[in-house]
Amino acid sequence: MSSFPTSARAVIIGGGVIGCSVAYHLAKLGWRDVVLLEQGRLTCGTTWHAAGLVGQLRAHHNMTRIVQYSAALYQALEAETGQATGWKQCGSVLVARTPERVTLFKRIHAAARAQGVACEIISPQEAGERYPVMRTDDLLGALWLPDDAKVNPADVTQALAKGARMNGARIFEQTRVTAIHQKNGVATGVATPRGDIAAEVVINCAGQWAKAVGRLAGVTVPLHSAEHMYIVTGRIEGVHPDLPVLRDPDGYIYVKEEVGGLLMGGFEPVAKPWAMDGIPENFEFGMLPDDWDQFQILMENALIRLPCLEKAEIKTFMNGPESFTPDNNWIMGPAPELKNFYVAAGFNSIGIASGGGAGRALAEWIVEGEPTLDLWPVDIRRFARFHDNDALLKERVSEVLGLHYMMPWPNRELMSARPLRRSPLYDRLYAQHALFGSKMGWERPNFFASSAADARIDYSWERQNWFPYAAVEHKATREAVTVADLTSFAKFLVQGRDAEAALQHLCANDVAVPVGTTIYTGLLNARGTYESDLTVARLGADRFMLVTGTGQATRDADWIRRNLPEGKNVTLTDITSAYAVLAVNGPRARDLLSRLTKAPLDNAAFPFGAIREIGIGYATVLASRRTYVGELGWELYVPTEYAAGVYDLLMEAGAAFGARNLGYYAVESLRLEKGYRAWGRELTPDYNPYEAGLSFAVKLDKPFLGRDALLAAKNNPPARRLLSFVATSPDTPIAHGGELVLRDGEPVGDIASAAYGHTVGGVVALGYAKTGGVRVDDAWLSARFEIDIAGERVPVRASLKAPYDPKGEKLK
Ligand SMILES: Cc1cc2nc3c(=O)[nH]c(=O)nc-3n(C[C@H](O)[C@H](O)[C@H](O)COP(=O)(O)OP(=O)(O)OC[C@H]3O[C@@H](n4cnc5c(N)ncnc54)[C@H](O)[C@@H]3O)c2cc1C
Repeated sequence: MSSFPTSARAVIIGGGVIGCSVAYHLAKLGWRDVVLLEQGRLTCGTTWHAAGLVGQLRAHHNMTRIVQYSAALYQALEAETGQATGWKQCGSVLVARTPERVTLFKRIHAAARAQGVACEIISPQEAGERYPVMRTDDLLGALWLPDDAKVNPADVTQALAKGARMNGARIFEQTRVTAIHQKNGVATGVATPRGDIAAEVVINCAGQWAKAVGRLAGVTVPLHSAEHMYIVTGRIEGVHPDLPVLRDPDGYIYVKEEVGGLLMGGFEPVAKPWAMDGIPENFEFGMLPDDWDQFQILMENALIRLPCLEKAEIKTFMNGPESFTPDNNWIMGPAPELKNFYVAAGFNSIGIASGGGAGRALAEWIVEGEPTLDLWPVDIRRFARFHDNDALLKERVSEVLGLHYMMPWPNRELMSARPLRRSPLYDRLYAQHALFGSKMGWERPNFFASSAADARIDYSWERQNWFPYAAVEHKATREAVTVADLTSFAKFLVQGRDAEAALQHLCANDVAVPVGTTIYTGLLNARGTYESDLTVARLGADRFMLVTGTGQATRDADWIRRNLPEGKNVTLTDITSAYAVLAVNGPRARDLLSRLTKAPLDNAAFPFGAIREIGIGYATVLASRRTYVGELGWELYVPTEYAAGVYDLLMEAGAAFGARNLGYYAVESLRLEKGYRAWGRELTPDYNPYEAGLSFAVKLDKPFLGRDALLAAKNNPPARRLLSFVATSPDTPIAHGGELVLRDGEPVGDIASAAYGHTVGGVVALGYAKTGGVRVDDAWLSARFEIDIAGERVPVRASLKAPYDPKGEKLK
C-alpha cells in the first residue's frame, strides 16, 4: 500500500471509466506523479451498470475518431495489462420503421464513407438474417455497421486503472474530495478526509457528481442526472453471443445479447430527472427502484420488434442514474473560471464508447496546453455561467435523453427551458410571427412567417415549410433592405495602455489601425489553426470592442484572457448584454438610414470597415459598416435601452424602401452565397487560414500567436482546401451539411454548411476537400464534383470563389 500523498502533479477526482482513462493516458504521456481519488470503489458510480455498447459512428468527425480510438484501445488493453475488457466485435444492425429514417440511413451511409467507418445499407430481410429473433415485416430499411462492438464496462475500467498503475499512477479508493484549493484564480490542490494533496492540475471526472465538485471550485459543470433503464432476460432460444447489437431508434430501443438472453434498454422521449436535491450520500453501486411506467414505452416497442420477449423471463430490471447535459454532448476541457482545473464529465450515456478516446484527448489537452484536434462539440466553454441553473437543467434533461434516437432533423430545435435570454426586441418580433431558435440561451428569430399559426418548423429532409418566408427575406436583402436582430453576438471591451500590443499578439490580422476602424481577424493557436474569428473595432487609442459569434462568448473570453501577455495593462470585459445589434442590410440601407441620421453615410465619409457614433432619432448608436450577407449595410450597436425605439424608427422609415425583418435562416443562405465562413463549421482548430482561403486576413509581417506555424505552412499547397459548391439543377434535393463530397467519383471531403441560395437559384455550400498536396487551380476544379445527398449523387460546381460576389457600385 502506498502512503497517502501530500502532493502530486495531477489529481483526478473520480474512478469511473473516464477518470481511469485520463489517469492511464496522462501516465502514458509520461506524467509520473498522477493520483486518482475515488470516494467509493472503482466503477461504483455509473460505470458498473452500463450496457457496454460501443457504436463508432458519430455526428462529428472527431467524435467518431475518439470512439474509433476507444475501440482500438479496448482491443489492445488485455495484451498490455493482462486484464480482459470483454471486447467483442459483434457489429450492429440499425433498423428503420419510417421513410424518413431510411433517408437518414442513406445520409449516415454517405457520412460513414466520409469518416472512414465501415457501413452498409442492407434490406430488412438481410437485417433479419443477421438478427433472426427480430420481426422485420414492418421494416423499411436497415444499416449494418460491422465494426461496432460491446465490452464489459467494469473490466474496461479496471484494465485502464491497471495500465495507469503500471505506468506509475496511484489510485486511492474510499477517498472523497471535499474541497478544491485555489490561489489567485489557480487550482492548487484538493482536500480529503485523509489529508490535503497539493497539485499542479486538478481534473474533475466525477460523473453525475461533477456538477457538485465543480461548485466546490466555482466552476460551471452543467449536467443533471436522469434515470436510465434496461432489462435483462433469461436465456432465449436463438440468442447467442455472436448476435450483433440491435438498434431500433423509431422504437427508442437498443438490444444486446447477455448470457444467452437479451439486454434491452432505450431512450424514451420524455425522461425522468433524478436527484433534484442532490445525490444521496454514499450512493455507491447504487440502483434506483424499478419503474415499469416509465419503461412502458420501451417495453411496448421491444415487444413489436422482438416477439420472443413475450415469454421471456425478466431477470433484472436495471435502473441507474446517468448524467446528461443541456445539448446531449459531453463536457470536457479547462474550466474558464479556474486555471489548472479540468473537467471530463456528463457523458450522456456514451461514456464507455467515448471513454478511451476522451481520456486521451483530455490528457493531451493537459500536457500540450491545447487539444490536438477540434473538440468544440464537447468543449466546456460552449456553456456559460447561466447554464448552471438547477431548474433549467432539470427541465432540459427530460428532453435531452430522448435525443439519442430522435430524428436528427435539419434545424431541429430543443423546446425545453425556453424562452431564456431575450433581446429587447423579442416581443416586437414575436408579434410579427418570428419563429425563434435558441443559441447560447438566446432566442433568435430564424424566419418570419405570415401568421402566428405558420410560425413553426415542419421537420423534414426536403424543403421545410419556412422555405418561402426565408426566400422573401433573402430577396429583400439583395434587392431592397432588411433589418436583422443580431443582439446575441458576444461583445467584449479590451482596454488598457497595452490593449493594442495584446491584440496584435492575439490577432493574425493587423489591428493597429486608426480609431474608428474595424478589422476582421482570426485568433490562432500555436498550430496556426483557428481558435476564433471575430471583428475588432478600434474605439479609442486604448479601447477596442471585439464582436464574436453568439456561441463563442465563453470560449473567446477564455482564450483571450489565457493569452493576454503577463503583467500588461489590459483587461477584457464582456459587454454582450449592454448592446443590442441591429443589422441594416441591402442596397437601400443607406437611403433608409439617411432618413434617420444627419451623419454623412456616403462612401467617402463612411467607407467600408469604418465604425462611427451616429444619432438615430434621439438615440446615439455605434454604426459599423460591415455585413455578413455581402451587401451594402451597417450593423448598429445600440445601448439596450434604446433598442426598441431604434427598431421602431428603422421599420417606420424603412416602409418606403420595402424594409422587412431578416431571420437567421436567410442570413445563412446569404452568407453562403457570399462564401463567408462560420466559426465551428468552416473555421475550427482543425483548419488554418490557408486551408480556409482567408490568407487576406493574415499579416505575416508582424509577430502574432500562430505565425511560426503559418510561415512553415505558407509555401506548401494545403492538404485540404475550403471550396464553395453550387448545384443549380431545378430537381436538386436540399443539402443540410454533412454530405459526402466526391471528386471524379472518389470521396474527398464533406460539406460543412449548406443552404438554398435564392439569388443563385440552387444549393450553395461550403466544404473542405482533400487536395492530395496539389495546388488547387482551375484545372483541378474542373474535375467532376458531386455531393451525395441521401444516396443521390448530385453534380456540383466547385470553386474557390464565392458563388455570389458583387463588386464595385453594388457595395458602395
Ligand atoms: C443504464 C445505463 C446504460 C448505459 N449503457 C452505456 C453503453 O452501452 N455504452 C456507453 O458508452 N455508455 C453507457 N452508459 C453510460 C456510461 O455508463 C457513463 O457515461 C459512464 O460510465 C460515465 O463514466 P464516468 O467516469 O464519467 O462516471 P462514473 O462512473 O459515475 O464515475 C465518477 C466517479 O466519481 C466518483 N466521485 C464523485 N464525487 C467524488 C468526490 N468528491 N471525490 C472522489 N470521487 C468522487 C464517483 O464515486 C464515481 O465513481 C450507460 C449508463 C447507464 C446508466
